[in-house]
Amino acid sequence: MKEIILIKNGEIVLKGQNRTTFEDVLVKIIRRRLAGIGKVRITKAQSTICVAPEEEGYDMAEAIHRLTGIFGIRQFSPAALCQKELEDIIRTAREYTADCLRNAKTFKVEARRSDKKFPLTSPQIAAEVGGALLETFPHLKVDVKNPEVTVTVEVRDTSAFVHSRRIQGAGGMPVGTSGNGMLLISGGIDSPVAGYMMAKRGMRITAVHFESPPYTSERARTKVFSLLKKISFYCGTIDTYVVPFTEIQEKIRERCPEEYFTIIMRRLMMEISSRIAQQADCGALITGESLAQVASQTISAIGCTDCAADIPVFRPLIGMDKEEIIAIARRIDTFETSILPYEDCCTVFTPRHPKTRPVLEMVLKAEAPLEAAPLIEEAIAGTRRVHISWTDELPDFE
Ligand code: ATP
Ligand code: MG
Repeated sequence: MKEIILIKNGEIVLKGQNRTTFEDVLVKIIRRRLAGIGKVRITKAQSTICVAPEEEGYDMAEAIHRLTGIFGIRQFSPAALCQKELEDIIRTAREYTADCLRNAKTFKVEARRSDKKFPLTSPQIAAEVGGALLETFPHLKVDVKNPEVTVTVEVRDTSAFVHSRRIQGAGGMPVGTSGNGMLLISGGIDSPVAGYMMAKRGMRITAVHFESPPYTSERARTKVFSLLKKISFYCGTIDTYVVPFTEIQEKIRERCPEEYFTIIMRRLMMEISSRIAQQADCGALITGESLAQVASQTISAIGCTDCAADIPVFRPLIGMDKEEIIAIARRIDTFETSILPYEDCCTVFTPRHPKTRPVLEMVLKAEAPLEAAPLIEEAIAGTRRVHISWTDELPDFE
């Protein structure tokens, strides 16, 4: 029996005229993602993409695992291919769904027919196949409202398919269809989730990380790289910029009033990130901020940091509770890495009493003695770039 995978697109189907372009991008991503497992033929028809292995012993389980990381896929099903004849459809259904049906109590058969020349209508196909399965598995009962197993028969142009497993896809839009965003990533719980969420909306993610050795360690940097590797299962390869931030932080400590340390530091992060974003062709910054989570995430603090960036700042977690963020972090497997206790440059030189309601005018006054311009140039000149992918070892940095 020949097994294939039928993939249902997500929101792409709403895209009207642009739909083909979106589908083409998705097919390209699927092709790249499945590379190296074995030879496959990928075709698209009627809002379904079909992946057909072209060699014996194809590793279906690995292909299924990889497909769960692709945004733009709503759902997919491994399916058995058969001839467009009722007899073959029934034989295939008996064999292919046996494991599923043996352990179930209730089932139903759904049929779809895009080939209107097929001699039976969809309800007739469903009735015939359902009857045959009841004969083979007499313990089963039909339940059309809430069946444990739904066996689907699809009769298409050149062949028919039978399947009974629905695997939830990652949803969202294919990465690359919504432009490029630059993720400010720390080693914390929030920013990897923020990157994942914007990639889900179709953004290609580039990352920027600020480090302050010797206050921050190599282990802290490796932790950030590991987090990026984890989310690259969803986002694809991530170009990552590492910015040396030590001198800026030391100069802030030397030259600025203590209660403004954090806000000034965050403004410099924003300014440097938007400069790098423009060079890297990113149209927005992305942060993991959530309203009221910490002193630098009040409306006035966010207002003061925002105007240091001259491109839009996306904050997908802004209205989420920590618990909700953690639930996503666990699902995408970043949580355990995020809670490793290594320092971030944000926790170096934290003021004892940070301003929770900073006023921009005062912030600018506090920032003036820093004479930031040459420091910013120096940091950008010292920035290094690496590529991080879920398929590769972590980059060698030194
Ligand atoms: P996270 O869990 O993402 O670290 P957080 O709740 O600890 O967030 P902050 O430390 O105030 O909050 O950081 C807020 C946001 O600033 C982060 O979500 C991230 O986008 C960005 N950020 C913090 N530290 C860094 C860093 N070292 N490099 C790049 N971006 C950073
Ligand atoms: Mg943090």
